[in-house]
Amino acid sequence: MRALFDLPFPELMFRAQSVHRQNFEPTEVQISTLLSIKTGGCPEDCAYCPQSARYGTGVRAEKLMALDAVLAEARAAKAAGASRFCMGAAWREPKGSDLERVCAMVAGVKALGLETCATLGMLTAPQAGRLKDAGLDYYNHNLDTSPEFYGEIITTRTYRDRLDTLGHVRDAGIVVCCGGIVGMGETREHRIGMIVTLASLSVHPESVPINMLVRVAGTPLADEPALDAIEFVRTVAVARITMPRSVVRLSAGREDMSEETQALCFLAGANSIFYGPKLLTTPNPGPDRDRELMQRLGLRPMEP
Ligand code: SF4
Repeated sequence: MRALFDLPFPELMFRAQSVHRQNFEPTEVQISTLLSIKTGGCPEDCAYCPQSARYGTGVRAEKLMALDAVLAEARAAKAAGASRFCMGAAWREPKGSDLERVCAMVAGVKALGLETCATLGMLTAPQAGRLKDAGLDYYNHNLDTSPEFYGEIITTRTYRDRLDTLGHVRDAGIVVCCGGIVGMGETREHRIGMIVTLASLSVHPESVPINMLVRVAGTPLADEPALDAIEFVRTVAVARITMPRSVVRLSAGREDMSEETQALCFLAGANSIFYGPKLLTTPNPGPDRDRELMQRLGLRPMEP
């Protein structure tokens, strides 16, 4: 893996493109929309996250959204061209009646003809089964970083907890969305460790979000120096090469990324983006800017 990361950039890009073309139509980009159905007030201490109740970031804790409001957002996302609708809740794990309320949302979104995805924190095996029965197609649970760097970022749940949740999701027959964040002060060695762990899961996650840290004021990582954009593109390329059939998603951090960097990411094998003006609580390029960029690059939305 280190040898891949260290390749001369043109060589790395050539390899990533070759793998991408063997497995995907290179002009197609999968488009997802992400809605925060329960914002803020999270008890966890993820150092990058504005939704943790431990940091003064100005994000207000809200209640779980009403079903009708979620379905209205899902209809709008579909009209804007999204094929998948992801619902995120700032929880350590779903508790009490919350899971049933989310299941009703999943069933409602599915009935609109959208693929469904949720990210709700840790799950037990029965909870994963219940979500599957409600019609959940994808579950997102990121590993965030390498096992070695993990303790610098989160102390309230273990790496093992994350792997266990991923196992329950996989066993329930839900498709796995799992990636991480770069630019959190980790070394290249840690980035390698993260990709190695993802690529060593018994089945590769079908969807691999690669996030660039959004440095939010009030979080412990607010003053982290920006990661070199070329290093970010290298990370995307290595993810593409090592997980050839996975959809690699450019997720958080696109708002601060130049269009040229995003174009390089698509050349490096990224083939999914989140559409919409907001990613949970942080800004994202609006659909118009994305549509224009895709048009300029000759890219088109991937059919579900
Ligand atoms: S990343 Fe998720 S679990 Fe961690 S603090 Fe934010 S909302 Fe909570």
